[in-house]
Formats: sequence, C-alpha cells, structure tokens
Amino acid sequence: MEMQECRAESTAPIARRVLVSGASFAGLATAYWMNRLGFQVTVIEVASGLRKGGTPVDIEGETIDILARMGMIDAVRAKALPPRGFEFQNADDSTVGTMGTQSDPDGVPSERYEIHRADLLDILFASVAEAVEVSFGKSIKHLEDRPDQVAVTFSDGSSSDYALVFGCDGNRSNTRRLTFGEDDFSFFMGGYFFIKVVPITTLLPANTSQIFSVPGRTALLNGYDDQTDVAFAFRTEREIEYAYRDREPQCRLIHDHFSNLGWKVPAMLEHVDADEEFYFDKLNQIRMPAWSKGRVTLVGDAGYCVSPLAGMGGSMAIIGAARVADAMRCHGDDYAAAFEEYEEKLRPFVEEVQQKAVSFGMTMMFPADDVELAERDRKISAGILDV
Ligand SMILES: Cc1cc2nc3c(=O)[nH]c(=O)nc-3n(C[C@H](O)[C@H](O)[C@H](O)COP(=O)(O)OP(=O)(O)OC[C@H]3O[C@@H](n4cnc5c(N)ncnc54)[C@H](O)[C@@H]3O)c2cc1C
Repeated sequence: MEMQECRAESTAPIARRVLVSGASFAGLATAYWMNRLGFQVTVIEVASGLRKGGTPVDIEGETIDILARMGMIDAVRAKALPPRGFEFQNADDSTVGTMGTQSDPDGVPSERYEIHRADLLDILFASVAEAVEVSFGKSIKHLEDRPDQVAVTFSDGSSSDYALVFGCDGNRSNTRRLTFGEDDFSFFMGGYFFIKVVPITTLLPANTSQIFSVPGRTALLNGYDDQTDVAFAFRTEREIEYAYRDREPQCRLIHDHFSNLGWKVPAMLEHVDADEEFYFDKLNQIRMPAWSKGRVTLVGDAGYCVSPLAGMGGSMAIIGAARVADAMRCHGDDYAAAFEEYEEKLRPFVEEVQQKAVSFGMTMMFPADDVELAERDRKISAGILDV
C-alpha cells in the first residue's frame, strides 16, 4: 500500500457535499460521477493507500461503455493483459477441455479486457485525485441520517455534515452496518476461497489458466506475463469459525484441505505460507431487501456483492456507480426518487448475476461430488459451456 496526497477540506454548502466511504472501484467511480454532477466530494478509505492486491479485473459489456463515457477506455486498453486460455486438467496434467476468449454465436470475439486491479485503480484514482478530497486511514465511526443531512463522526474524532453518503466499503461494509444494523445480509455460498499473487512461476505457461478439481476441492493457477495467481477453493456445508485477521489459521485450512492432492498442488502449497499478502474469504453474496435508507445508499460489494465466482465484482461496482449517477441526473434534487430508480433498474441484473454464480459458477469451479464433476468434465470436453 502506498500513501497518497490529500486535498484540503471542502467548504461547499451541505446540500452540495457528499461523502464516499471506500476508495476502490465503487468508491472512486462514484466520486468521479458525483464530481461530474457538481457535488463537492470527500472520499475516505480505511487503508493507508489504495488496496491493490488481488486478481485482474474483467471488463466487458456495459462496463466498457461506462469507461468510455468516463474517458478511460483508452487507458484501460493500453494496460489490457493478453487474452488467456482456460484449461481443465486431469491429475496427470492431461487436458480435459478448454475455454477460450468469449465469442458471440457467429464466432466473433466479443470486446473484453482483463486488467490488473492496481492498474484500474490507478486509472480511476488519477481521474479524481485533483478534483475530490481523499483521506486515507479514516473511516466512519458514527452516522445519523437526519431529514436534511447526514451527520458523520469519523474515526479520527472529527465530524462533518453531508447531503448524501455513499457506502462503497466492500463486502464487510461499515456504512451498511451503521445504517442498516448488525445483520450482515451475507448469503453463504458453501465454500472458501484462497488466492495469492506471486511473481511468475514455472508452474504453467504464460497467459494460461489451469484448473484441477476433485469433488468439493479445486486448485487454480492463472499465468500472466509477469505473475501467477495461486488459488484454492473448497466446499463446506457450514461457515468455519476462524480469526479473520490472523493469517496462520487460514493457511492451515488450505493445507488441511489440499495436502493429500496430486497434480501441481504440492508445488502450489509451497507458496501458501510465504510472508506476502493473500486473499482468503468465504464465498458469499450480499443480498439486501433495499440498498438505500434515507440519505445513505450502497454501491458495489457493500450493497450487492456477487462473489468472486461471478467474475465481475469490479465491473458491477463500476456499473453501480454509473447507474446511481444516471438516476440522480434524471431526478435532480429528489435523491429518494433517484435511489429508488437506481435500485429498481439495477436489481434484476444483480440478481441474475448472483443466481448464475450460485448455479453455473459453483458447478464449474468446484463440483460438489463425483457425479457433478463427471458431468462438468463431459460438457467441458464436448465444448458445452452451460454446465
Ligand atoms: C484487497 C482486495 C483484494 C481482492 N482480491 C480479489 C480477488 O483476488 N479475487 C476476487 O474475485 N475478488 C477480489 N476482491 C473483491 C473484488 O475485487 C470486489 O468484488 C470488487 O473489488 C468490488 O469493488 P468494491 O469497490 O465494491 O469493493 P472493494 O474492492 O472490496 O473495496 C472496498 C474498499 O472499501 C475500503 N473499506 C473497507 N472498510 C472500510 C471502512 N470502514 N471505511 C472506509 N473504507 C473502508 C476497503 O479498504 C476497500 O478499499 C478483492 C478485494 C480487495 C479489497
């Protein structure tokens, strides 16, 4: 993580001041649009800099149009990673079947990019850095949604009032908890996911992904020109108790579930304990009956996390930010009508993506039993992708 410069505190009238909690895809994109709508924007981020770890982000469909509207699509294309083929492997490393880059029914490749998370965050940050106030190492401690403003107290003891607050603070959203209460609205998908990004390895060819599954367990490698993602996923019926901020038990869970597997798993496990950042979490979705309450609304994972299995968490955050801005443009000062329209128009798409992640994503990425695995492999080898 790196420290970033902050701009001076806003002095705009409250009616024009908005607060964004979280400086990732949802937060930076929301800040961009709110600034374009003429608001004085403050972004706060609990980390000491942009959080850049993790796997690359997929950009396609509506997200491409939005990034074009934001004037960023050329910068994204310039940083796009080479197309990556996907290989499903047997224990002896023979290939069951492959998936290439996506094509439309005529076989013409659809426009789609993959970009390192850090590069996309840099592009988004550069677009707002001069125009909005960004404070790192800061979060909301308390907020009170009043008829005419939201009164916010911050973790550093300071306080301020805003016309609107956007909770863009991810799956474990602080804004969600402070606004909607302790229910975390988390839908457990029945598994856990570990991913570590390491410098390029000899485990697989560049620009390839390989996946090896046994019932309930999957090992995944993504190879890029300069790095390898080492990933593991396993199923459990119930959530596991573990110390969320403690690395050691999380690494141990991976060893416990994968130490007796073949393929490239023993070599992959050697990367698990090395002292670098990794991402380990339950596979979950956020399913809320409403995304807004009063003058507070949620954008991205905070309101409707679709899970890593959907392969579009970053895109969904960028889409959400644009949609809430479009609704606000239509409804002027009537923020309540805007928040309602934002949800009404986006919710069907979110629910479709969430449903597909539960059915297609789970079966494809880690089949539950021998029957599901055999059926997946049969379809993959026959080139049928609707597993
Ligand atoms: C470091 C990181 C690594 C990830 N790696 C992967 C991955 O490898 N594979 C994958 O499929 N998905 C990964 N994800 C999740 C995926 O990228 C998300 O679906 C996507 O980023 C959604 O964007 P978002 O802006 O809604 O939420 P996020 O990207 O989660 O961003 C939320 C932001 O809010 C900040 N924040 C959290 N709490 C507070 C608080 N109290 N106050 C202020 N700010 C706060 C966070 O630090 C973060 O910057 C990762 C997320 C993060 C943060």
